[in-house]
Amino acid sequence: MSRLRASGVSTGIPNTGPASAQRVTDKLLATQGYVVGVEISGGGARQSVALANLDGEILHQIRRPLEYLPDRNTALEHLKVMLSEVTGSALDGRLLRVGIAVGGLVDARRGLVRTLHRAHGWDHFPLQDYFTEQVEVPCIIDNNANAAALAECIYGVGRGERVVLYVGLGRGIGGALVVDGKVYHGVSCTAGEIGHMLVVQEGGPRCSCGGFGHLEAVASAQAIVNRLIGRSVNYPETEAAIRRITDGRAERITAAQVFQLAAEGDELARQGVEEVCTYLGIALANIVHLVNPSMIILGGSVAQAGDLLIGPLRERLQRLCLPAAFQDLRIVQGSLGTDANLVGAVTLALQDL
Ligand SMILES: [Zn+2]
Repeated sequence: MSRLRASGVSTGIPNTGPASAQRVTDKLLATQGYVVGVEISGGGARQSVALANLDGEILHQIRRPLEYLPDRNTALEHLKVMLSEVTGSALDGRLLRVGIAVGGLVDARRGLVRTLHRAHGWDHFPLQDYFTEQVEVPCIIDNNANAAALAECIYGVGRGERVVLYVGLGRGIGGALVVDGKVYHGVSCTAGEIGHMLVVQEGGPRCSCGGFGHLEAVASAQAIVNRLIGRSVNYPETEAAIRRITDGRAERITAAQVFQLAAEGDELARQGVEEVCTYLGIALANIVHLVNPSMIILGGSVAQAGDLLIGPLRERLQRLCLPAAFQDLRIVQGSLGTDANLVGAVTLALQDL
């Protein structure tokens, strides 16, 4: 397992064979209690479950994405199986808390999922009470960007920062504001929903929420990929480049690969990246003027593009922001990578003890 520097949190995935099971059991005997982190995203299609000790070290984790969009009950049944596999019988009453990071609108104070865009059956679902009943230990839920932000601020690159804006650039776009180590939720727990900021006023593309011209509709991983694939139909050179970089599976292209194609000089990819940086730059500059953060952490799959994203974005923010607002601002890639949401779920549980 690879430990995160200075945190003790491991995000490595152990093998699932008998030897690994024995290793987990040994660890269970050596510590006092455990927490479980659960991630629900992709409208319920992407779920993961992790068992961690009280130092935040992940001992075992399972990811089992579905090829289809499940209804709520199917998703919950699926999770139940994963939960029992991860916790097993060895815990013997020492499971202390379950943290759940949800990729959707969450009322964290009341423990409700408000809605999961695209998915059905989740509106106003009391997920926190449901899980509490299932596992018979206290549970806590929050939005996945809030959870990932908290994890980055406690274990990751945001440690010691006073005002952090976390931006989760995945299939959708989420955001979170962490001030003095605490997530700012707002009055109805929608603070940080920056994916729905209006950035294209006329004729903007449709967003997952039903609105038009929102940041998520132009700068999410899905938007970046769909835009390039759609436009490449009339550009054989770009089509060939996409096939090359994906080993012939064009539909599997990632947002980070679009950035890579742009860096290699593909004109269509370059235009797409330019649009992402423009609209993301507008949204972030507006937020910077409101909250004056010391750090913007970029997470999610689009952030895997690294400096190909951060470099141009930094230039834009420097141009768009008042010098006094930009001078102490750092824009960085998250250090928890694609595990940030799951580590976030574990962090929610640990913070609630
Ligand atoms: Zn929207």
